Amino acid sequence: MVRVGLTGGIGSGKSEVARLLAERGAVVIDADALAREVVAPGTEGLAEVVAEFGPEVLDPHGAIDRPKLGRIVFADEAKLEALNAIVHPRVARRTEELAAGVGPDSVLVEDIPLLVENGLEQRYDVVVVVDVPEEIQVQRVMRDRGEDEHHAWERVRAQASREQRCSVADYVVDNSGTRADLAAEVSRLWGKLTAR
Ligand code: ATP
Repeated sequence: MVRVGLTGGIGSGKSEVARLLAERGAVVIDADALAREVVAPGTEGLAEVVAEFGPEVLDPHGAIDRPKLGRIVFADEAKLEALNAIVHPRVARRTEELAAGVGPDSVLVEDIPLLVENGLEQRYDVVVVVDVPEEIQVQRVMRDRGEDEHHAWERVRAQASREQRCSVADYVVDNSGTRADLAAEVSRLWGKLTAR
């Protein structure tokens, strides 16, 4: 099994690359999806979140009010760490369970938005970074998340820089072109991953 850590800044195109790799036969684990799963209603993870942040972070259905919790942890580093201490170990456990079920000839791709920020590169055989100019990230964040330009730049700048990310990459996927260009980039990447 080749274990691939796929990362990139907000709006860089990670999900798109993950989808294109899945089409070519990769098994994809989405860390964001797991991070939601481990604190879904009824989980022990959710009980811990409520113990830490209070029931005011729940919506009327008893699920986490993500925008609200996001505002709390984005404004306070210690609170972000407390949330991560609840979520990260559970995501790691679930990831290992899923990885244990993958065949020996598989390419396992983990979509990890904060791989570089959290120093996780050692976990992977190959680190793939999706790279775009920050201006493109900002445009996509404004379009997809309804942020104004100022907040979109804040989100981009809160993450690792392009240089920091690319310096740990074994492979950089350039997503500054069209979707067709991206598909061609991913085909080249797939060729390298399957040749290993
Ligand atoms: P996030 O970290 O915000 O979840 P992401 O890195 O997973 O983002 P995607 O969701 O894959 O990024 O892409 C962000 C947006 O840009 C999506 O709407 C996607 O369809 C679009 N997109 C990705 N690549 C391209 C491209 N080459 N041309 C045009 N649009 C693109």
